[in-house]
Amino acid sequence: MTFYCKNLEIGTDQCMKLHSECIPGRPGCVLEGRVALSEELEERIAKLEEERLVRIREKGNKS
Ligand code: SF4
Repeated sequence: MTFYCKNLEIGTDQCMKLHSECIPGRPGCVLEGRVALSEELEERIAKLEEERLVRIREKGNKS
């Protein structure tokens, strides 16, 4: 099965909607909640969320 998303920047695999790496099904993605994710994708999304929380904590510590 192939998939095409109008938000994907061909060549860089960057999401033009989220201004970040394309990870189908991630929070903010047009597919969020609409598709079943593989274990690998769920792990990548969980890692992404962890990194986001770390950035928020670091930002909070600076103020
Ligand atoms: S993350 Fe989602 S919305 Fe963004 S390019 Fe990938 S599939 Fe499309």
